[in-house]
Amino acid sequence: MQTIFGPINSRRFGTSLGIDLSPALKQCNFDCLYCELAPTSTVDAQTHSVLPKQIISDLKQHLDSKIDVITITANGEPTLYPHLLELIDSIDAIKKNTQTLILTNSATLVDAKVFKTLLKLDQVKLSLDAISDDVFKKIDRPHKNIDIKDIIKKVQEFSQVFKGKLFIEILFVHGLNDTKEEIQKLNDTLVNIKASRVDIGTIDRPPAYPVVGLSYKELHEISLLFDSSIPIHIASRVHAEPNNSTYSDKDILNTLDKRPLTMQDINLLFDEGSKKRLNSLIKNSKIVKKVVGNLEFFIPDTNLKRKLQK
Ligand code: SF4
Repeated sequence: MQTIFGPINSRRFGTSLGIDLSPALKQCNFDCLYCELAPTSTVDAQTHSVLPKQIISDLKQHLDSKIDVITITANGEPTLYPHLLELIDSIDAIKKNTQTLILTNSATLVDAKVFKTLLKLDQVKLSLDAISDDVFKKIDRPHKNIDIKDIIKKVQEFSQVFKGKLFIEILFVHGLNDTKEEIQKLNDTLVNIKASRVDIGTIDRPPAYPVVGLSYKELHEISLLFDSSIPIHIASRVHAEPNNSTYSDKDILNTLDKRPLTMQDINLLFDEGSKKRLNSLIKNSKIVKKVVGNLEFFIPDTNLKRKLQK
């Protein structure tokens, strides 16, 4: 069974070699409406697993110095893998300078053993799509007895003690978690979570159920509803239509002060004249670059100085 895939060039995480901890079938404790895998009944444990010995032997054949990150994922939820601790210890023994990353839906953080195991990784990406119990149940369709309040508590706790880079991902689905009320709740939760970056995205691939994603413009509007202290990054580009809006020097400084943007965002939002104005602000050091994770953001110099003082 093929457990290693890639490498793929991930804009967010660099050159990534993937490990699939459930290569034979989907095994997940959620049945998300937007999942790119087919719908299935949820499970709370894996019934089909590959032994760590085989994964490590496959990994050794593919790992080289060009890989930035070994990404632990699955057809389903990777933290349901019963030998996760042993696997991570074995990867650590051979990875040298390569970083380790896991992509998880966060639900198993309530399990003390998983919580402790994830602390060993260099990077962790936790999904958090909703705060309200009804919205969470509608969008993520969790296995019975999974309670969003317990998950949020553990995500907050994890962010306090984790020494590596923590990323949070929110996937927005039209008409479900994109209401002002839910965004306010997400905001109030995220201000208490210490994350390197909060990626907001939407449905980029055919979903398991008939649900609709948001446009880039809608994601941008949502990004402005979050507190400016939260490092929001718009991760979805598939539905991105250029906006070609005109920004004065003052508009550019205000926009980037509220929400730092990447060059890709700027190319989508700014018209040609505004890009020229941005370039002269960069030349005059009024706007500077700041690297967060693997991405480069443009931010007013004054804002950066304010942040550095904190
Ligand atoms: S947690 Fe991931 S794998 Fe599981 S159903 Fe949701 S999107 Fe699919």
